[in-house]
Amino acid sequence: MFTVLAGGVGAARFLRGLTRAVDPRQVAAIVNVGDDLHRFGLRICPDLDSITYWLGGVVHPEQQWGRADERFTVSEELARFGHDPWFTLGDRDLALHLHRTLRLREGVPLSAVTAEVTRAFGLDLRLLPATDDEVETRILTQDGRDLHFQEYWVRERAAPEVAHVRLAGADTARPAPGVIEAILDADAVILAPSNPVVSIDTILDVPGVREAIAGTPAPVIGVSPIVGGKVVRGMAHRLLPAVGAEVTAAGVAAYYGDLLDGWLIDTQDEDQAPQVERGGVRCRVTDTMMDDPEVATALARTCLDLAEELGR
Ligand code: GDP
Ligand code: CA
Repeated sequence: MFTVLAGGVGAARFLRGLTRAVDPRQVAAIVNVGDDLHRFGLRICPDLDSITYWLGGVVHPEQQWGRADERFTVSEELARFGHDPWFTLGDRDLALHLHRTLRLREGVPLSAVTAEVTRAFGLDLRLLPATDDEVETRILTQDGRDLHFQEYWVRERAAPEVAHVRLAGADTARPAPGVIEAILDADAVILAPSNPVVSIDTILDVPGVREAIAGTPAPVIGVSPIVGGKVVRGMAHRLLPAVGAEVTAAGVAAYYGDLLDGWLIDTQDEDQAPQVERGGVRCRVTDTMMDDPEVATALARTCLDLAEELGR
């Protein structure tokens, strides 16, 4: 089994490659739920949904999240009633949120609802929410506001300076069924090229997960989300300094520290390989820009080769 710690789009692009490189039934993704929010009484899980739409082949190709062939009838009508449209929901997308919310109200845990959803989209890999409990990434800004991650990220476009990031609700959260087993029983654990602060840390902060990653006999391999000193997309460069991490491929490896056995960096960052290795982490240099699914597949294979090498 290959277990991937996953955020949204960066992880989805990687998982598209991994599920081509190996049998998808051997893949489990443990997915961040710190981004999840309530809107109009609905439960929305952006990272789970981004992965589902990507692997289900229905993602919006330019935007890279949400649905292709989408309409916004409901959101436009909501504006009529004075609702601020800062978090727009497409009509097709709404159907998933309606289904999920209905099932959650019936008492079905998020992990079980997620299994229904992935089945409906024909996915063969296992998507495991990090926890079935409600947790929420909160951004404390330097101007003293305490924002939900989505208010900071989507409404304010990551403009405010960040003082602190925390996963609210983490103290009482438990890992979802299968999460700890997926880490301890894996042949390799892979940290996807996701946002280290608001995608990966927020999985590690669920009690027991960080300990499982540190204690698993499987090699732990990460892929750098930073290429050429920049985020490939998104705004992770706004968050890394807030946790004291440098916005470089080697900087993120140092931030993960002892959790890593291996680290994959892009050819653009080749000169950083010695620095990574001095930190006691085996480093491989390869093409990590996954716009082309073939590149993503090759990258996944390189991860598994490195895992095998380190497992010996
Ligand atoms: P989000 O939850 O949708 O923001 O997505 P993630 O947390 O999974 O991933 C966001 C990160 O993925 C960003 O920091 C990007 O730099 C990184 N990323 C996206 N596409 C690629 C890619 O093709 N290669 C690499 N190396 N990183 C990528
Ligand atoms: Ca996310």
